[in-house]
Amino acid sequence: MARQVVVTGAASGIGAAVSALLRGRGDEVIGVDLRDAEVVADLSTRQGRRDAAGAALRRAGGVVDAVVACAGTAEPTEAAVAVNYFGVVEFLGALRPGLVRAEEPRAAVISSISSIQTSDADVAAACAERDEERALSLAGKAVAEGRGYQLYAASKLALARWVRRTSVEPGWAGAGIPLNAVAPGVVVTPMTAALLSTDDGRALVDESVPMPLGGYAPPEAIAHALLWLVAPENTHMTGQVVFVDGGADATLRGEDTF
Ligand code: NAD
Repeated sequence: MARQVVVTGAASGIGAAVSALLRGRGDEVIGVDLRDAEVVADLSTRQGRRDAAGAALRRAGGVVDAVVACAGTAEPTEAAVAVNYFGVVEFLGALRPGLVRAEEPRAAVISSISSIQTSDADVAAACAERDEERALSLAGKAVAEGRGYQLYAASKLALARWVRRTSVEPGWAGAGIPLNAVAPGVVVTPMTAALLSTDDGRALVDESVPMPLGGYAPPEAIAHALLWLVAPENTHMTGQVVFVDGGADATLRGEDTF
């Protein structure tokens, strides 16, 4: 049966690939993005998230079978925290009532290999406390001190931890909603186009994100993993951060995670 799936970041990259695959198999996609989407909204603000969730729920007639939160930004500014963390967790929270009404509800978000790299610990902690004002103020401080590049990693680390913590709560596992994350390595999308267009950029990327299996991934490689996480077949996987990264995590952390 066709399912109604809300996909954020649907206008580009991984979100666009997820949307195309879902539509290809007959599901209805309610895309949310800054442009070119069923719901045009800015997930960096509280009001934007609230309006987006309201509009998506209305379009879905109150029943949302799955949410795939792909919207994100690699800007080394406060926006990385506002969109990548609060734009995901607040939006998912607002859509939860729609998920609860579905027969086989599922949710998936996108963390990153960056979650295991150097990041701003204070910003990640403020995210964990759901204190957006403090997180943004600390992010502003990081930018002023020339550490804006640590904000993307902090947002993705905080998001991975949020999935671990939240997935097993009564409102998610207890309500029968698997909640997982995919952590990609380097994916060829508009987000990485500039970096991958120069020899220096590629050398930098290859050093920090070694991908012995297959090299840089096409967006579809991530989309297929997301599709399984939100499929009815996923009845018992929750709270996982699945690295779809060509072996980068295994290379960088080896056996240390066990
Ligand atoms: P992309 O830039 O192609 O797509 C991101 C989409 O998010 C865009 O359509 C953009 O408009 C939307 N978006 C950004 N800010 C928004 C906002 N404030 N409100 C609503 N929508 C907004 O990038 P992508 O590579 O497809 O990234 C998708 C996700 O994957 C992101 O969360 C990104 O952090 C993550 N990721 C990407 C890579 C990579 O190498 N490309 C690696 C790891 C994780």
